Amino acid sequence: MIPLNRPTRTGKEIDYIRQAIESGSLQGGGRFTQKCMEWMEKKFSASKVLLTSSGTAALDMAAYLCSIQPGDEVILPSFTFSSTAVAFARVGAKLVFVDICPETMNCDADAIEKALTVKTKVIVVMHYAGVACDMEKVMCLAKDRGILIVEDAAHGFMSTYKGRYLGTIGHFGCYSFHDTKNYTMGEGGALVINDRNFIERAEILWEKGTNRSKFIRGMVDKYTWVDMGDSYLPSELNAAFLIPQLEKADLIFRDRLESWDRYFDRLKELMLRGDIQLPSIPEDCGHNAHIFYIKTGTCEHRDRLMDFLKAKGICTAFHYLPLHKSPAGLKYGRFAGEDHFTSFESERLLRLPIYYGMESKTIDYIVKAIFQFYG
Ligand SMILES: *Cc1c(COP(=O)(O)O)cnc(C)c1O
Repeated sequence: MIPLNRPTRTGKEIDYIRQAIESGSLQGGGRFTQKCMEWMEKKFSASKVLLTSSGTAALDMAAYLCSIQPGDEVILPSFTFSSTAVAFARVGAKLVFVDICPETMNCDADAIEKALTVKTKVIVVMHYAGVACDMEKVMCLAKDRGILIVEDAAHGFMSTYKGRYLGTIGHFGCYSFHDTKNYTMGEGGALVINDRNFIERAEILWEKGTNRSKFIRGMVDKYTWVDMGDSYLPSELNAAFLIPQLEKADLIFRDRLESWDRYFDRLKELMLRGDIQLPSIPEDCGHNAHIFYIKTGTCEHRDRLMDFLKAKGICTAFHYLPLHKSPAGLKYGRFAGEDHFTSFESERLLRLPIYYGMESKTIDYIVKAIFQFYG
């Protein structure tokens, strides 16, 4: 079977893990953790990055730092992964789900605007498939109203919007290094803190509620419990695994994009024939080829195509089941406006295999199978 995803490996991971083991300490916050964080801060010109044990943990931290009060509302797309919502439901926010733009599957800035109330505290955007949301409009909506922006950039590591890296535009950005993401450490993530006012509290939260980060920098002579916290640091083993992938970040980026472009070029004919739709990339967006998807005419077409490809040894997948219709979504949130696209578009979306080091002939085989299906 051709898998949907193959975890990224550069071949250098074992070397770095050995170095971590030989260093004598595997607890979080060591040399490799620092190296990962410094790499991101430099590459993305970010004021502060904290490595976390998952993307979900990074979202959790962002949600906590937003200081949600009873009755506060958080606007987010319904078309996203559960983690985006869970983080904010847990701190007591009322979730307000909005519709997406069918062209990008990203949350619709006009729908966000219509969903605003005096209780809106946070807007969470998710950059689907590593293609940026309309950040200019979203930032503009938030600015005068004192609303915080959290970017769920789990798909968007290394992607850009108007030349800026995703995750560095809102108040907080959240990356994931889960095994299915472009860059991985098995399980892991990072929180980007773009507003310096939040850095001190973020470090305390990250360090189990202590001011240990200040202590390490020599700013206090002993460290103690000062605020709420959790254990958000990954082990040095995980950080050591991520380092070689960051060192090869541009190579991995280009390799995936080549696969993405090959799919697009070869499937264009089916799009022009009207059999399928292909993703559209707005001019302002430099994307990282996290996902390659097509859209079929209907849900029934999609399911038949999925079965057809499976019989040819090709794994495909769909997502997301709209959160506003999920058991927890119904409990913690409501949908604002009309569901014009979320349900309909998600039912006809099909993700094709894409991973680092994918061979051209594998893509050609998959494309040929899709052409066969459409006759
Ligand atoms: C993967 C993902 C997350 C969560 O990341 P984990 O590292 O698996 O916790 C959050 N949001 C989106 C959109 C994701 O795809």
